[in-house]
Parts: sequence; C-alpha cells; structure tokens
Amino acid sequence: MTALAKIVHTTPEIEAEPELTDGFHLVIDALKLNGIETIYGVPGIPITDLGRMAQAEGMRVISFRHEQHAGNAAAIAGFLTQKPGICLTVSAPGFLNGLTALANATTNCFPMILISGSSEREIVDLQQGDYEEMDQLSIAKPLCKAAFRVLHAADIGIGVARAIRAACSGRPGGVYLDLPAKLFAQVIDAEAGQKSLVKVIDPAPAQHPAPEAIARALEVLKSAKRPLIVLGKGAAYAQADEAIRSLVETSGIPYVPMSMAKGLLPDTHPLSAGAARSTALKDSDVVLLVGARLNWLLSHGKGKSWGEPGSTKFIQIDIEPREMDSNVEIVAPVVGDIASCVQALLDGMGQGWQQPPSDWIETLKTKREANIAKMAPKLMSNASPMTFHAALGALRTIVKERPDAILVNEGANTLDLARGIIDMYQPRKRLDVGTWGIMGIGMGFAVAAAVETGKPVLCVEGDSAFGFSGMEVETICRYGLPVCIVVFNNNGIYRGTDTDPTGRDPATTVFVPDSRYDRMMEAFGGVGYHVTTPDELTRAVNEAMNAGRPALVNAVIDPAAGSESGNIGSLNPQSGIKKKK
Ligand code: ADP
Ligand code: MG
Repeated sequence: MTALAKIVHTTPEIEAEPELTDGFHLVIDALKLNGIETIYGVPGIPITDLGRMAQAEGMRVISFRHEQHAGNAAAIAGFLTQKPGICLTVSAPGFLNGLTALANATTNCFPMILISGSSEREIVDLQQGDYEEMDQLSIAKPLCKAAFRVLHAADIGIGVARAIRAACSGRPGGVYLDLPAKLFAQVIDAEAGQKSLVKVIDPAPAQHPAPEAIARALEVLKSAKRPLIVLGKGAAYAQADEAIRSLVETSGIPYVPMSMAKGLLPDTHPLSAGAARSTALKDSDVVLLVGARLNWLLSHGKGKSWGEPGSTKFIQIDIEPREMDSNVEIVAPVVGDIASCVQALLDGMGQGWQQPPSDWIETLKTKREANIAKMAPKLMSNASPMTFHAALGALRTIVKERPDAILVNEGANTLDLARGIIDMYQPRKRLDVGTWGIMGIGMGFAVAAAVETGKPVLCVEGDSAFGFSGMEVETICRYGLPVCIVVFNNNGIYRGTDTDPTGRDPATTVFVPDSRYDRMMEAFGGVGYHVTTPDELTRAVNEAMNAGRPALVNAVIDPAAGSESGNIGSLNPQSGIKKKK
C-alpha cells in the first residue's frame, strides 16, 4: 500500500470524494521517490509521527539519543553514498543540537539535509512566545550551503527537490529544510499531491573541465622535476577510484593521501609517499591537488612545511572555482568534477608521457623506508600499561587482516598516531574528524557506516573523544550493529597525569582514573572487554569483530604517554608571561 492510500474517507455519504494525502505522507513520498531510504534522528514534537509513518512506509528510521550524533550519522552517510544523508529533529533545542553536524558537514563538503520541525510562523515572527519558539531558518542560513522553508503541502515536492540539488550539486554541503508543525497535518488531494512530487534527475551533473585548463595543467606537470599528487577527501567522495589509481600509476608521480583519502590506493603502494610526507611537501616543485584544499591541514601551501616561497607550483582540481588562489597562487586551475578532470588528464597524457626523474622517486622511497623502520620497534612493545604506539601496532595488524572494515577515528594522540600507523587498503574506509578536527563524531559515524555499508566497523577513540557521543552505545546495541569500539583510556585529555596546582580539584584535563568504559557497553547488552596488553587487545578485537556484535574494549594506555594536543600542539597558545620561580 502506498502512503497516499492511507487517508481515505470511508463513510458511505462521502464515498465519492477524492482520496486525500497530507504533509507527513508527502515528505515521506518525496524522499522515497528520490531513493532516500534512511532517516537519522531523534523523535519529538512535531516530528514524532513523521518518524513512525516513515518506518511504517518501509524507510529505515534510526533513532539516536542526541541530535548531534544523528546529524553526524547523516553527514557521513552522505560522504559514503553521494546521496544526501537525512537528519530529522524537533524544533528549537533539537534543531540547535543538529546544527553543529550541519555546519560540520558543510565545512567538510558532505551532502546532508537537516529537516527540523518548527513552531507556528505567525507566533514566532511576532515573538509571542510559542512552544520552542525560534526563527530557525535565519539561524541555519549562515551555517549551511542553502536553507529552505515549506509552508504549503503542495510545495513539499519542490522543497525536497531543491534541498537535494543544493546538497549534492557542485561542492556538496549541508542544507536546512524547515517544516513548520502546521504543514504536516495539511491535507490535499492525493492525485494532485502525487503530481507535485519531483524526482531529481541527475542531482550532481558532471562538470567537464575546459580543454585549455587540462593542457595548461599537463604543461606544468611535464616541467616538474619533483612532482607530487595530493589526494584529499574530495577524491574519496568522488568515487572515481579506478581513474585516480590510473592517474597515479600512469603518471608515475608519487602521492600523499590526506587522512580520509587514505586507502584510495593502498597505503603500501610503491608510489605512496605518506610515510615521507614532510619531505614530499617540502621538496616537491609541482603539486597536483585532487579534491584537497590548501587549508591549515596543508599549512596553507606556504611556510615551514613547504619549500622556499614560490618554489612550489600548484595545480588544483576542484569543483568549486572560488577555491582557486584561496591561499596561494594556483598556476593551473582545473575546475570540474574529479572523475571528468582526472579522465581528461589521463587522456591528455597519452602514449608519450615521461615518468618523473628516478632520483626523486628514490629520495622519497629511502625516506619512507627509514621512517617506517624507525617506527617499527615502537609498534612491537609489549609493555603494560600500553603505549599508544604498541596498542596501535596491534590494531594496524587487525585492519591489515580485515581491509574491508571501516575505521572510525577520533581523539588527539589516538587520532594523530593512528592516522600514521594504521595503513588503509580500500577507498572510503577511514572516517575521522575532518576539516575542523571536531570531537564527537565517533558513534554517529560508526552507526551510519554500519547501516549504510553493512560492513564491520572498528571505532578507535580517545577516552575524551568517546565521551562526547558515548551514550550512543545504547543506539548501537538497540540496532545490534557490528561495531567494535576501542577506547584508548589514558585517564584524561592528552595525558592523565595533570594536577590542580592548588590541590583543590582534579586538573582540568583529567578524568576519573581507571574508569571502566567497557561496562557502559555491558549496561545495554553488548560485550565489554578490559585489556592491558597488545596481545589481549588483539584477542578482544578479533573476538568482537568475528562475532559482529556491539562490543567495547577498554584499552589501558600509559597515562604519561601522550603529548599535548597530539601533533598540533603548535596551535595551542602558550602564555607569554614567565612564571616567577
Ligand atoms: P582534505 O581535508 O582531505 O584535504 P578537503 O575537504 O580540504 O579535503 O577538500 C575537498 C575538496 O574536494 C573541496 O574543495 C571540494 O570542493 C572538492 N570536491 C568534493 N567533491 C568533488 C568532486 N566530485 N569533484 C571535484 N571536487 C570535489
Ligand atoms: Mg585520553
């Protein structure tokens, strides 16, 4: 039975009346018509029935404990599938809770749609104090790519279509869709309602690069003595995996993957310069950016991480023309979608392409091997409590043996060290804190990764990072998802050893020592493990992942092992005032 058939007058007097539909059903029908099968959200006024009806109509509706995590789930669903992930929230406070995820999705170029119910327009606009009164549309606008409000049931089809197009076309991003409570109950003729729906044709049209732009880029690449390709998460999003692999292998140019682009080619690929990143950035003379921005994560393309000013020429492939020259001059902008641009470069390389000078390849290979050799003994330590390196060494082997598992990763040291230590082998298997370095994505990403892909998920979490979304272990248990969480428990943020100089309170960066996060999982019927050595960690994670059931491993890490802010301590301002001795 379709949603439309639901509201039919059955009393004999009005049997001849036309079938009716309402706002609830039109929203569901519009989403389904566009191939959207899953909603992430938290129920409440005025969208409780929308969730119920969506479930009854066969959609998957995943209810969370807090909207931020539902929003993060929707955002990463968008990254993984190229379809906008949907987050559904209640008005004002629920909407605000979802907004962090919406802004984060926009910053990271993930397509998502935040749909929030809202209160009576007439009362909100006169500020007469309605239930959960808030001008949500105005608040959302500066934090997302586009924001729309629908007031008439007959406009729901267009509203949903606009939201989908805005989220997916060009540079993807977050979209806000405001649906006032009154809209849901509005009744219209079912046939007219059906006709008002829009199936979005080609929501992310190919954008072919100009032939001159390709010729210019190839000229610059050909002139390079020490070329480098930088792959960003835009390249992972684009799902042009084969073309990207051939670009690297045909050109023979070494590449560095940004964190969420790891695995586009296996990190063990001979042309991977990931383990020689510093040398690769500093000594390259031509850099081809593929779906990676020259933001703080690449030191804005200048300064200490790069060669002398002007010594590096940048070619950039990006769908967003205004990204060009945002930090430094781009000598060869290639504007278009990554699949089309990479294919055009490959076509242009043709038969006569010259591989880069072998001394450059050798330099990077030597550096990479030296760095890997230097790291190796640290990964083998069997000390208890564990160091970050030893625990990550164990997880590195597990990911190698389970390359199709999805790795979710957040924290400070737990993030920075895992990014370097754990090799990835397949595209879109590493999901992490992204452009903002945001904490709190863990459980939301884990839920959506499991729901969208059906693959096992390994969630490697700092104890602080885990705390932001930890209550969602209940959600993971409720849906019985194959998620294994490893909490790197070092008793605190960065380290667990700080003290309050006055002796009054715990230091600002420490938690209850020797906490048992594993028992949080047990509280909801999942399996908890408490481990103190790499061998125990390996056994626990393998057992949990073989079982494919919710599990949490409390991994005891040396409280003194971490460093302040992980790898980005330099961003932490230090007081200029010297303490008197
Ligand atoms: P990273 O943090 O991994 O370096 P960024 O998020 O900084 O990656 O950059 C991703 C870039 O990819 C953005 O500038 C975005 O506009 C671009 N992008 C995303 N999808 C596509 C696509 N399909 N085609 C071209 N560019 C894309
Ligand atoms: Mg910690």
